[in-house]
Amino acid sequence: HLDRIGAVDSRVHAFLHVGTESALASAQRVDAALADGAEPVSPLAGVPLALKDVFTTTDMPTTCGSRILEDWQPPYDATVTERLRAAGITILGKTNMDEFAMGSSTEHSAYGVTRNPWDTARVPGGSGGGSAAALAAHEAPLAIGTDTGGSIRQPAAFTGTVGVKPTYGGVSRYGLVACASSLDQAGPCARTVLDAALLHEVIGGHDPRDSTSIDQPVPDVVAAARQGANGDLSGLKVGVVRELGGEGYQPGVRAAHDASLRRLEKLGAELVEVSCPHFEYGMAAYYLILPSEVSSNLARFDAMRYGLRAAEGRSAEEVMANTREQGFGPEVKRRIMLGTYALSSGYYDAYYGQAQKVRTLISRDFAAAFSQVDVLVSPTTPTVPFPIGEKVDDPLAMYLNDLATIPTNLAGVAGMSVPSGLAEGLPVGLQVMAPALGEAVMYRVGAAFE
Ligand code: GLN
Repeated sequence: HLDRIGAVDSRVHAFLHVGTESALASAQRVDAALADGAEPVSPLAGVPLALKDVFTTTDMPTTCGSRILEDWQPPYDATVTERLRAAGITILGKTNMDEFAMGSSTEHSAYGVTRNPWDTARVPGGSGGGSAAALAAHEAPLAIGTDTGGSIRQPAAFTGTVGVKPTYGGVSRYGLVACASSLDQAGPCARTVLDAALLHEVIGGHDPRDSTSIDQPVPDVVAAARQGANGDLSGLKVGVVRELGGEGYQPGVRAAHDASLRRLEKLGAELVEVSCPHFEYGMAAYYLILPSEVSSNLARFDAMRYGLRAAEGRSAEEVMANTREQGFGPEVKRRIMLGTYALSSGYYDAYYGQAQKVRTLISRDFAAAFSQVDVLVSPTTPTVPFPIGEKVDDPLAMYLNDLATIPTNLAGVAGMSVPSGLAEGLPVGLQVMAPALGEAVMYRVGAAFE
């Protein structure tokens, strides 16, 4: 895989940092233990992985795609990083991303755009475009992403790979640099559903260092993926969300989705049309809640504690202001300003408070739907991968990418994207959503479908 990275990454730019020496050392440790007759520490021992550059790593920089953290070397490992290492997984390097996970194309990275291996003139999606592109270009067989509004699932759809957003609290956020804490969730990315399940089992489960971590065992996703591989979904009810898939979705995406529904029926699933009437307000609520949390979380980048510090300034305040001016890109600044405004006194109830109410209504839509069906499905994205440059100066067009993925984050339920074929010769994905801690049935459906 290091050779493959050397051969293709100058064209794809999936990686911000390749840890050649630490990767080889880690692989050699696994080999030596096996040569000594030790049992493998996990089914994935020795398998290489690409890690999104938003997880802290003591042996590699963690930049979050931002100038403000250029060359920053964290003093501790994220829980996800720790669990990968404990399972004998080799971390090849850190992957490119939209700055602080804000974006849908990886064009908002301070370190250059990642290209979609299917067509290098197009985006791989975002914010985790680096992780998805690394999988599609066969630079790594496994990757980790984070999904706040779709950043695992949308890049998976755009690159013909599998991406899972676990239930909120299912995977520790300790050492995951925060974007919007009530929405952020780490998850597995792979080329098959079973690989994603094996990785999910490694990173999932309770962590006392994350106060929102769920104190429950990881759902048995590996057994579910194996069960699904028999291609039999009889007895399962699959809800087709009426509000996700019509207006605003490209004709090619809709045609691919219709074909996916026929395939689910052939596998034995019973299709039921369900309505989630508040999903249409998801985008509006998300773009108040997310910037509000961003404006608070990113206050820590004050030039005093981490990373960049501007040379100019006659007072601490001026140094802070100059550092943030130089260190943050335009999308991050836009959201900090939006969030600061939404949280300001006098507007708080009208904007943030109202958005939280919408969030509750969306959770109730999910609860009502899941009382009728086992899983919900929709297209993962409204469009096929778009050309680099097409939406980068049009924030609203960029935000619309996450129309179908945002509701699951707002409600904290589980979602995944599995490849569902091609539209206009480019990959598209089927989104499968399940109730909180209902990952098993989601993996079963995903594995049967792929
Ligand atoms: N694209 C969405 C956004 O820009 C989602 C980001 C994410 O999931 N990290 O906010």
